[in-house]
Amino acid sequence: MSPEPTDTGCLFCSIVAADIPADVVGETEHSLAFRDVNPQAPTHVLVVPRRHVANAGELAESAADELGDVVLLARTVADQDGLGGDYRLVFNTGEGAGQSVFHAHLHLLGGRAMKWPPG
Ligand code: 5GP
Ligand code: ZN
Repeated sequence: MSPEPTDTGCLFCSIVAADIPADVVGETEHSLAFRDVNPQAPTHVLVVPRRHVANAGELAESAADELGDVVLLARTVADQDGLGGDYRLVFNTGEGAGQSVFHAHLHLLGGRAMKWPPG
């Protein structure tokens, strides 16, 4: 699928374009992984599709392979950070669920014990 135009008002499109700096820890043709600026765990990385879509559902609908690529890159970064297979993956979808940036992103959290249910 051909890339959609960059959303000029979008923070994560700006990070993908390297217009805004980020601590990048991994990348593929379709995805970019960088550390969250406000980490909630020793490892807190955001994995985003390079293409602008608003949320995980839209990504799955438009390109399921790109959704898979995001998840695989998260696993690669979890391995790089030595998490030993223990980590949490979260897609917040919608303001009511805590989504604040409307460019799909997968949170990779690890390096500490995780509670359930989440807050
Ligand atoms: P959401 O709340 O939409 O699920 O997650 C957005 C995440 O983006 C938050 O965890 C927030 O800390 C992170 N974030 C916001 N602005 C920046 C930024 O400029 N750089 C980085 N690396 N992360 C950011
Ligand atoms: Zn975007």
